[in-house]
Amino acid sequence: MALIVQKYGGTSVGNPERIRNCARRILETQRAGNQVVAVVSAMSGVTDGLIKLAKEVSPEREPVEREMDVLLATGEQTTIALTAMAINALGGKAVSLTGAQAGISTDRVHTKARIVNITPDAVKKMLDEGNIVMLAGFQGETASGEITTLGRGGSDLTAIAMAAAIKADLCQIYTDVDGVYTCDPRVVKTAKKIEEISYEEMLEMASSGSKVMQSRSVEFANKFGVRFEVRNSMNNNPGTIVKEETPGMESVVVRGVSLERNQAKVTIDDVADRPGISAAIFGAISQANITIDMIVQNVSFDGITDISFTLSAADLPKAEAALKAVIPNLGDKATLRTQSGIAKVSVVGIGMRSHSGVAAKMFKALADASINIQMISTSEIKTAVIVQETEVENAARVVHTAFGLDA
Ligand code: ASP
Ligand code: MG
Repeated sequence: MALIVQKYGGTSVGNPERIRNCARRILETQRAGNQVVAVVSAMSGVTDGLIKLAKEVSPEREPVEREMDVLLATGEQTTIALTAMAINALGGKAVSLTGAQAGISTDRVHTKARIVNITPDAVKKMLDEGNIVMLAGFQGETASGEITTLGRGGSDLTAIAMAAAIKADLCQIYTDVDGVYTCDPRVVKTAKKIEEISYEEMLEMASSGSKVMQSRSVEFANKFGVRFEVRNSMNNNPGTIVKEETPGMESVVVRGVSLERNQAKVTIDDVADRPGISAAIFGAISQANITIDMIVQNVSFDGITDISFTLSAADLPKAEAALKAVIPNLGDKATLRTQSGIAKVSVVGIGMRSHSGVAAKMFKALADASINIQMISTSEIKTAVIVQETEVENAARVVHTAFGLDA
């Protein structure tokens, strides 16, 4: 008998029929001789709908975050009850538990709380009594009993953390695709499902645009060594195993190609080349709560230089406003320039640590396709370039082919 944690995302429980489909799968898993904890998200669109409602009743100010959590936690609470009912209707025995009832304790940072501790006694007792435990994703409670939520996509974290707490034998993340792909299959038709990927690669791919799971949940899994599988809730195909790095994994140089659209570039030309300039620029950006990506500073000439960085295009107006205020302090000639309509293509793989020539191969593939590279950044396991947005799909395809990833 194995102890299994399954997680079903919003689309997988998106309507009554799909809830019945999940209920059937959960029940089958139990009937095969296992104990099952099933974590569910809110039905697709529900969390967004609740956020919209909150804004409508509170147009004058951001809704109070404590109340947001009370509100948002209802989405998952609905799904656990409905799924438990469906399981019971199919002849199984299920009970639903909210995050609080399941012993998930968090800090007090409403709307993006961190799990501090899990006391899974209630979960274990119910499993031992022969129940399927339907566990509400995305939520917990503070030490003083306030309801909290774990940030968007937080049901993944609930599943991974509960799997760690009860020492589950298996953790399965069910979603609407077959697993993690070498690239977005809508863009690269020849993309194939990855059988095994390391936590680090999964995190890099997520941060460069291939979002399959909440990043925090992957970080948590890495920290606590929770091996999990991403699978499709609509079929029985094997998924992608996400796990610690193993020696064999390094033989693949590039695991996947990610693309991220809607990027923008900010350039400050002719800034004075003296200490404090970058601090002033990026201080203003961080004050405005803007996350930036690549930063490039040119070699200085005659005491002046240029600095460019990229960010999400949605943040561009905020960034421009923040920088206008500091431009006068950056030297007499400093001017601000911005460009949207750019996108990022990244290749990711832990094999890059031990193989050389990855960047050269990527740039050659882009050159052969006459695609101009505007910026470049690298990390130990990633090489990323900025290209014109209109060329990003072609860029992804030629790079995918160059690294032998085509099916
Ligand atoms: N319902 C929450 C969200 O939409 C949590 C989740 O689905 O994982 O972000
Ligand atoms: Mg989700």
